Amino acid sequence: MSLCHPEKGNVSCGACCGLFNLKLTTKEYKNLLLERTNEFKKTVDFSIRHSFPIYRKDRETKEGSIPKKDEMTYNCPFLGYVDETKHRIGCMIHPIFTGDPKSQNFSFYGTSICQAYDCKTKEGALADLWEDLFVEIAKDSIEFSFLSADHIFTYAVEKFFAHSLLNTETMFHLNRLELMELFRIRLETSASKNFTSFEINYDIFLTLESVERYLSSELGSEWNQWKLEWEKKNPNRGEVSGSFDK
Ligand code: SF4
Ligand code: SF4
Repeated sequence: MSLCHPEKGNVSCGACCGLFNLKLTTKEYKNLLLERTNEFKKTVDFSIRHSFPIYRKDRETKEGSIPKKDEMTYNCPFLGYVDETKHRIGCMIHPIFTGDPKSQNFSFYGTSICQAYDCKTKEGALADLWEDLFVEIAKDSIEFSFLSADHIFTYAVEKFFAHSLLNTETMFHLNRLELMELFRIRLETSASKNFTSFEINYDIFLTLESVERYLSSELGSEWNQWKLEWEKKNPNRGEVSGSFDK
């Protein structure tokens, strides 16, 4: 199991399959995933190869009228619910289900890309700790996907703590509640973003100032409020040498 499909909880991530490129509300994302899953179950027979492309074409046509955030980003219709209770999202044509190691070749990206891709947060040194935290914060797989794919924000938070001279253990244990609060604030505006996890981070946050500039631009006044509370609980914290790059 991994950040994509955590061992604990009842959530998973599907952000890199392009879900958030569609301009929908959380409820609409869930309805769409349910619709895909039901149609997939009804029409795709793993032993009939042409049933895969027929499903794909049909869904692409049906979803073609949904407004997109970015016309160049693909949203794969093979992303659906993969558990009985319809809480976890994932690849409905993953070899684990089809028994065919190449079945993802029926998708736009193809097997080699689908299986080789790992987002920045997943491949980061703190992946397991972020996974645990996000499982605790997220109330469903939509929220979990928002959190998991948002690697620039997550990296900025890591750097904020590093520049504040706090170690990882402190961040995930002693400051867990503050950390959770910060990500809950983030979730308030996540729906407006097109998180694919492919986003490029042009700022490596070499200084506390650059981290704060980014967090303030992303969270607005909520950042100032969070920081005020943070400073009350953690007086005398701040950067001393200016550079704590990973
Ligand atoms: S965005 Fe990252 S965590 Fe989410 S499914 Fe893709 S690789 Fe996994
Ligand atoms: S085929 Fe690839 S892009 Fe599509 S849902 Fe599966 S893993 Fe995601």
